[in-house]
Amino acid sequence: MFNRRSFVRKVGMLSAGLTVQGAAAGLTQQKKPMKKGPIVLSTWDAGLEANVPAWVILEKGGLALDAVEQGVRHTENSINCCVGLGANPDRDGHVTLDASIMDHQHNCGAVAFLERIKHPISVARRVMEKTPHVMLVGEGAQQFAIAEGFALEPEKLSKAAQAAYSNWLEKSQYKSPSINRENQLDHGPFAPTRLQNGEWNHDTIGMLAMDQHGNLSASCTTSGTGFKMRGRVGDSPIIGAGLFVDNQVGACVATGQGEDVIRVAGASTVVELIRQGRNPQQACEEVIQRIIQIKKERSKDIQVAFIALSSQGEVGSFAIHPGFSFAYKDAQRSELVKAESWFK
Ligand code: ASP
Repeated sequence: MFNRRSFVRKVGMLSAGLTVQGAAAGLTQQKKPMKKGPIVLSTWDAGLEANVPAWVILEKGGLALDAVEQGVRHTENSINCCVGLGANPDRDGHVTLDASIMDHQHNCGAVAFLERIKHPISVARRVMEKTPHVMLVGEGAQQFAIAEGFALEPEKLSKAAQAAYSNWLEKSQYKSPSINRENQLDHGPFAPTRLQNGEWNHDTIGMLAMDQHGNLSASCTTSGTGFKMRGRVGDSPIIGAGLFVDNQVGACVATGQGEDVIRVAGASTVVELIRQGRNPQQACEEVIQRIIQIKKERSKDIQVAFIALSSQGEVGSFAIHPGFSFAYKDAQRSELVKAESWFK
């Protein structure tokens, strides 16, 4: 249960610069840089599978950029994961997708509110490589995708999404943010929501890779949050919030309640803290703590998590709540790592 006194004590200690939670486990405890790439890591359990095609590229000496695109494309294809066209729709019954990608030279591309296109991550890469822009949204993004040869898929919900949507429609618990914004954000249909079995329901995969040249790239692709307000866009396609790469310093990708990641410019703040001397674990913890300081008691109802990789190959991750894992792969090992969290 949320304990106000202990919450206040923890935040107080944090202000004094003390870390009271989340001693880094396993991978993240090492003080010295482990090594340079190749390394790939990605959010949630689906990351284990997504790392496989990414690793095929990295182990052959391929580019981190290709690895992070191909890795999350695998998840976009999967019918067993709630990323991509098989995911939950918005409250009007349409699946709308967001994605972003960034390389080691600050090149970046993103799409948001994209409908009926199977691989938003690849459209984001084309935005980066073939336009003078960083982000295309909605109809314009779809037109661009079609012009680039992406197929316009039929608008049809997957079986699982149809069932979840019908279930949601029974209550249609959605209050307009303008009526009750805080309540909406914290208790409304925004993901990740806690399932009855206590696990977090999420709709995103984010991936970070370092190739054999030591270059970093990041990708993120999502259906946003299930039953969201039509037109809602979260953090995932926002460069600096959902993901950020600075090749001299490190890379970070976020997952969780996008509104609260945007509030602290999550991924770029993590990278900036690494620039200032924190290791990736400390940087992730500090930004999660910042969100907790902003949200106060309401933190108990939201999940946010970061994964980060420094240019020295150090890894870090931290979440507000338990239940977040990330998948790690290098030449020696492939494993799912349970992230530490503020709440236990
Ligand atoms: N960050 C995503 C969003 O807010 C959701 C998620 O990571 O599950 O759109």
